[in-house]
Amino acid sequence: MNNSPIKIGIIITSLKSPEATTLKYLVLYQNTLQSSIEFQFLPVPEDAEVLIKLNSSKLLNRKEINRDINNYTIEYKDWLDDKANSYGLIQEAIDGIIIVSMAKFSDGYYMTRVNNWAVFALGHWEPYMAPPSVLEFILTLIIQFSTYIACKGSKSVHHNATKGCIFDFTYQLDEARYKSLTGFVCYKCANMIKMACSANLFNDIKTLLNKGWLGNITEPSIISTTAKKLGYDLFHTKGITPTTLERLKQIFEVEGVKNLLLIISSVIIATLILLLGLKKFP
Ligand SMILES: [Zn+2]
Repeated sequence: MNNSPIKIGIIITSLKSPEATTLKYLVLYQNTLQSSIEFQFLPVPEDAEVLIKLNSSKLLNRKEINRDINNYTIEYKDWLDDKANSYGLIQEAIDGIIIVSMAKFSDGYYMTRVNNWAVFALGHWEPYMAPPSVLEFILTLIIQFSTYIACKGSKSVHHNATKGCIFDFTYQLDEARYKSLTGFVCYKCANMIKMACSANLFNDIKTLLNKGWLGNITEPSIISTTAKKLGYDLFHTKGITPTTLERLKQIFEVEGVKNLLLIISSVIIATLILLLGLKKFP
């Protein structure tokens, strides 16, 4: 029996630091929590046309992107092999590749699949769709696609109804949040995973989907605390990047009431000085 993990390569476009840095940390940390899936980030050539398109803010035709990806897969594999060879390395085989982008598809889809590639196009994400944070949502999509690859692209995957299951189809992006919030895998999908792959994979993805490893707003884990230090607060940031208000909340939470009292007392003292000064010199 082959117990080697499936290998999922991830390419990030559009996202910048600190979001990209935090996403990489959270994805790679998941390698330590289970043994069925090995996540890895891959280099990309700067001049790849399809990646440049996905990096733009224009509305994109999903079917055209599917064709572009289909045409690009061999070219990218060759480029990756050459890149590794140029440093005396050997590129190991990758089972599935995910491009994480903030592109917008004109038909409203937020994900598209071509063979063993997936493109996440999350440009339609709006802050009101949180919770979950967009990074947690991306983590869920990565697990969803990895499971699909591990189950060798089972045709029975995805269902019409919204159950809060990772294989909900969901017509609207704001409906898709439930699959990330619940971490549920429905009876049908659980059976499909166990039959097409293994009970071990099922247990492993449940561990990841549960997100207990991230903690919560009142009891953050060391992982979410590190994510905050990297610049992305999973429990306050609703959009792609934190707003000014979200940054302030983060500061007050980190520094506590001490700083808040210091600011209030400074304002009171400054006001008193001003008033006394005005009385002294009418
Ligand atoms: Zn399901």
